[in-house]
Amino acid sequence: KELTDLNALADEYLRLSYHGLRAKDKSFQSDFKVDLDPNVPKLEVMPQDIGRVFLNLINNAFYTVNQKRKKSQEHGEGSFKPLVTVKTKKLKGAIEITITDNGDGIPESIKSKIFQPFFTTKPTGQGTGLGLSLSYDIVKAHGGEISVESQEGLGTIFNISLPI
Ligand code: ADP
Ligand code: MG
Repeated sequence: KELTDLNALADEYLRLSYHGLRAKDKSFQSDFKVDLDPNVPKLEVMPQDIGRVFLNLINNAFYTVNQKRKKSQEHGEGSFKPLVTVKTKKLKGAIEITITDNGDGIPESIKSKIFQPFFTTKPTGQGTGLGLSLSYDIVKAHGGEISVESQEGLGTIFNISLPI
């Protein structure tokens, strides 16, 4: 474990995800926002592991907004504006990191399965179904919690809390 600036880590992995996806897919397009609480203290974490969690969640968020953008373009709508937001906040005794997207949301029928290893709704080659299960294990290993709120068609919010 290392004393880690989670604001810097979140910001770094957001940019890493964005530029990685753009490099792979020239048609990838999304806005993003960061909202970092300057009162977030440094935490003793495994920075590579927590970074991996951020990357998994942010990649998922960019994936869904980009799918929605492509669909809305095919339907000649084109007014959909993809947006992914990463926010940090210092709470009493914990730091909360929130990743919000305005993508397709998670259907109620699969909500209970998304943290299971190998569960994926993505086409072969595009998803392993391991991102969320790994993220769950990493957050738990840090004594934290990960939860999800989602509305089908509107978007998804992933919340991570890590104890201070
Ligand atoms: P993968 O990305 O390889 O499919 P994950 O474990 O990261 O595996 O995610 C599992 C599944 O959870 C995804 O296939 C998708 O169905 C759903 N999911 C995860 N994040 C989101 C999101 N932000 N919006 C909509 N669905 C999501
Ligand atoms: Mg994933």
